[in-house]
Amino acid sequence: MAQLNLILLGPPGAGKGTQAERLVDDFDLPYYATGDILRAAVKEESELGRKAGEYMERGDLVPDEVVVEVVVDRIDRTEAEDGFLLDGFPRNPEQARALDDELSRLGRELTAVLLIEVDDDEVVRRLAGRRVCVKNGHLYHVELDPPKREGVCDQDGSKLVQRDDDRSDTVKHRLEVYRDQTSPLAQVYEERGLLRRFDGSRSTSEVHDHIRATLATLRLESEL
Ligand code: AMP
Repeated sequence: MAQLNLILLGPPGAGKGTQAERLVDDFDLPYYATGDILRAAVKEESELGRKAGEYMERGDLVPDEVVVEVVVDRIDRTEAEDGFLLDGFPRNPEQARALDDELSRLGRELTAVLLIEVDDDEVVRRLAGRRVCVKNGHLYHVELDPPKREGVCDQDGSKLVQRDDDRSDTVKHRLEVYRDQTSPLAQVYEERGLLRRFDGSRSTSEVHDHIRATLATLRLESEL
């Protein structure tokens, strides 16, 4: 079967994680979210966590060599042979180059880059209300997607909390970092004919339907 080697791109709060939860079910792909991997490492107090923690707290990017190693290790796994869904990586041109190098070393190439677009005001509104479950990172929003019981995850019953870096001063900084370092990647991938744009201001299911249809077409085309 044709590979689906995918990147989810978009500002914090665009709904990448929410869409990923659904796409992983649809297409049976391993999902690698560098933010989730790094947060878990911080919690475990591993060496990776110690290297990453202070940058994350400020909303800055963790150094490239640290993150690249995490991703290279994942996409080389047997589970990722038929494809993968990357979220939160690459975050700057240097990381994009490192990913290209690794894929060409493996004789593979990117299938598509899915850009979910939302404006800054909407990002701030979404992140202020975002809650995550402490156990497995399931995502909620206090108004837009509330859990059945306040403060409790529907899926595993664990407690819902606000991420430290979702507080408003850090959010503004994360948006600047996105605008300066990450958003230029959209043009890079557009020029390579890989970029697919999605309107992240639409409902979760509308965005999901649109992405799913796009991926189904891409898979069909690559099998022809
Ligand atoms: P996220 O969950 O994607 O919003 O990521 C949370 C934080 O983890 C970011 O603000 C960065 O500090 C760090 N991080 C995640 N992915 C990367 C990456 N590809 N490069 C550098 N830092 C990252």
